Amino acid sequence: MKIRSRKFDGRCAKHKRYNPAVDGPGAVKGACARCTLLYEIWEASLRLNQLIRRFDPNHDDLQKPAQKLPAVDPRQMSLIGD
Ligand SMILES: [Zn+2]
Repeated sequence: MKIRSRKFDGRCAKHKRYNPAVDGPGAVKGACARCTLLYEIWEASLRLNQLIRRFDPNHDDLQKPAQKLPAVDPRQMSLIGD
């Protein structure tokens, strides 16, 4: 079985600042359906991670930090240095 971990970048058009991971279900304004759905997706992803970990405690589902490319190419620096 293969489950792909995906980055889901969903956002409510009305409440762009709503972040279910930080704000929780209590911060959903006026029972907004989109925000509620975002929270449910977040909750389901946590549950999925829990289930996978229960099945295999050694499973590494933590996201590794993306490698950032250096802003300045070191080779360009050497041109200036010389
Ligand atoms: Zn909303």
